Amino acid sequence: MAGGPFMSTDVRLPTHNIVRPDKDTFLDEVNPFDAMMSRFDRAAELLDLEPGLYKILRHAEKTITISIPVLMDNGEIQVFTGHRVLYNTSRGPAKGGIRFDTDVSLEEVTALAAWMTWKCAVVNLPFGGSKGGVVCDPLKMSVGELERLTRRYTAGIISTLGPDSDVPAPDVNTNERVMAWVMDTYSMHMRHTVTGVVTGKPVEMGGSLGRRDATGRGVTLVTKEALDHLGMPVSDATVAIQGFGNVGSVAATLLDRRGCRIVGIGDRVSSFYNPDGIDIPAAVAHVKQHRSLDGFDGGQQISGADLLTLDVDVLVPAALENVITTRNAAGIRAKVLIEAANGPTTAAADAILEDKGIFVVPDILANAGGVTVSYFEWVQDRAGYFWPEDVVNDRLREIMTRSFHDVLRLSREHGVSMRTAAYMLAVSRVATVHRLRGVYA
Ligand code: GLU
Repeated sequence: MAGGPFMSTDVRLPTHNIVRPDKDTFLDEVNPFDAMMSRFDRAAELLDLEPGLYKILRHAEKTITISIPVLMDNGEIQVFTGHRVLYNTSRGPAKGGIRFDTDVSLEEVTALAAWMTWKCAVVNLPFGGSKGGVVCDPLKMSVGELERLTRRYTAGIISTLGPDSDVPAPDVNTNERVMAWVMDTYSMHMRHTVTGVVTGKPVEMGGSLGRRDATGRGVTLVTKEALDHLGMPVSDATVAIQGFGNVGSVAATLLDRRGCRIVGIGDRVSSFYNPDGIDIPAAVAHVKQHRSLDGFDGGQQISGADLLTLDVDVLVPAALENVITTRNAAGIRAKVLIEAANGPTTAAADAILEDKGIFVVPDILANAGGVTVSYFEWVQDRAGYFWPEDVVNDRLREIMTRSFHDVLRLSREHGVSMRTAAYMLAVSRVATVHRLRGVYA
């Protein structure tokens, strides 16, 4: 049986279980491209990166912005804006998800594409990094509208797509069904079926077993390594998880099974605290039925802000960017921060967390399980030979565990944080390939 409790034939769009970042002020701090760049700059400085390479790696290779006309169900035409950014392809085809969200911007997509570049390099996958996004509110759209939007977006970026050039995957508010439409649209244009053009597809059409749970599973694996490293027992470690979508709910389930006590969970709508441990299967069942945690009765209702500052061993932000900022970092009481989301911590907040001695497993390592199994899916599609789920999970464990220790070793050698070490490892791997390949003239 594929994918454990989360594998079903239900391919509805995911619920919008994400906590919106607070962005009324301090716009500089919450600019995701600046957040990415300041970490990159620090790694580049420590690596003594040569000026030419520094200049290359500060720029996205290719940026596409398109208008996407869609015939809405009411007969009107609406025009959406979509982006696809290929940040760097020196190590292999560009790899990265597509998100549908009202907050999508070119800057955010560029930062996310750079993060994909560093993420693939940290876990040593033969991929570059890309990201796509469409500015829309999928919750307000019908399935037919979403299909037309997806197909027209795919047609608009088709020149970059391909198993050897740019391979999308699900991200915020996109899922297997959306990937099936991307794959079909691309295949219709190519005049033959090309399964390897996207990952995170339904298993029935070339998807990999274990892909749906992979990001949450990877989060669980690095949490265990972090706790072992710190000498904290995994069983009975207290955990708060912010975000209860595909990543947060899977991480909650797997950590719960390992004996952790999940005392806090929350989504965009509501957050809950239960010092005895939340009944995670009940929370998952509630979300399946109601599409959010709203109305869940397995704990005391708390605010989203209080969820982040609970007195727990492990805090897992598993939603969107910029939830840990200079405004709340001093109040974080967790000993370990596992960044399951992309960019949940602002660069300015890093120093505060470091001063407090919080052990941070950075996003580009902590959430790399998803793209790792995407890599397995791509390999299986190309070979036309599919692996059992236990093989997928074993190979995921091997890569996540090895990568965690690669980063930990570097962090100790250089006396730097896990984040800086992860960037150093990633940037040096990308830089090495640039040096070997030279600059084409
Ligand atoms: N969207 C996921 C991420 O941010 C997965 C990307 C992929 O599998 O290509 O890592």
